[in-house]
Amino acid sequence: MSKQVNIGVIGVGHLGVHHASHLTKIKNANLVGIFDSDMQRAEEISKKLNIKHFSSMDRLLKSVEALSIVTPTSTHRDVAEACIKKGKHVFIEKPITSSVVDAAYLIDLAKTHNVIIQVGHIERFNPALLALSDLEIDPKYIEVHRMAPFMSRGTDVPVVLDLMIHDIDLILSFINSPVKEIYANGVSIMTSSVDIANARIKFENGSIANITSSRVAKDRVRKIKMFQQDLYVTIDFLAGISEVYKAMGASQDDPDAIMSAPLVDADGKRRQIFYEKPVVKNNDALKAELKNYIKAVLGKEKPMVDGFAAKQALDVAIKIHDKILEDLR
Ligand code: NAD
Repeated sequence: MSKQVNIGVIGVGHLGVHHASHLTKIKNANLVGIFDSDMQRAEEISKKLNIKHFSSMDRLLKSVEALSIVTPTSTHRDVAEACIKKGKHVFIEKPITSSVVDAAYLIDLAKTHNVIIQVGHIERFNPALLALSDLEIDPKYIEVHRMAPFMSRGTDVPVVLDLMIHDIDLILSFINSPVKEIYANGVSIMTSSVDIANARIKFENGSIANITSSRVAKDRVRKIKMFQQDLYVTIDFLAGISEVYKAMGASQDDPDAIMSAPLVDADGKRRQIFYEKPVVKNNDALKAELKNYIKAVLGKEKPMVDGFAAKQALDVAIKIHDKILEDLR
């Protein structure tokens, strides 16, 4: 029989219940139980999923080798610290922590205890993005919009750390160059914190990313547009649709091209534009992310987003947020 990872979920609120539910179905994962500081919630989910709930985090830690931490961001540092100090692998929901110092501390601690930190930057597993894995993505300009209706959940951190961080992580995975400059603005609408933010990131290699995030919207939007030499890619993360427009030179008209004239190459060849809509698999991103974690614990895969990558995204997010606060002063 192949090795099983004994795992527990800490925090079974809105998202944690989905972690627990998926972990009951993932091969090589043995969901031993859950813990939530809200005992009533723990009992409710325990009954719903037919899994054990533990009366203390310590008790759960004694029975597992790995944890999924799905508590509010403000608690990630302390909860992860307790797990890592007991030698347990941790999957921490995004953002890794609310400060870069805390993220660095957890990364060092995990190194000392020889355990994995994986962080829940789930968009990396979005099937619409994975459908583009054959493309060489090297964007010169990125435009992103992420909007969500207002909810009190997640407001323990500003919108940059709650929503924009998803896009920051994606952008850092696409653009392989250090950040050069950040311009950012934002406003408070519903909370005492920043609820709508816009940031422009300029990279050393000249690439630019323009990101808008709002948690005060009527409808949910999660769209990215990327422009690079001879390529324009759009991804609708919510609808699960990717579209690709490629410009290619040709000596004669190709009937598959969606547009030809008046684009002309330097050598006089007609440029034609081709459209592609890659097939997007109907996979659940959270399940794929947790499968990656289980395989990482078993030493069969590397975490798609490790503590270091998550800390980098957090670092940029906090710089953006600081710029916004500076501007509001
Ligand atoms: P939530 O408030 O619905 O649930 C949090 C749960 O944790 C609650 O049941 C609460 O009782 C419990 N809890 C709080 N402190 C605890 C502690 N110290 N020990 C044990 N349990 C504790 O929040 P949520 O929306 O599920 O968000 C949880 C985390 O997931 C946040 O970090 C959030 O940023 C992240 N999140 C990520 C995504 C994503 O797309 N990857 C989406 C939503 C939330």
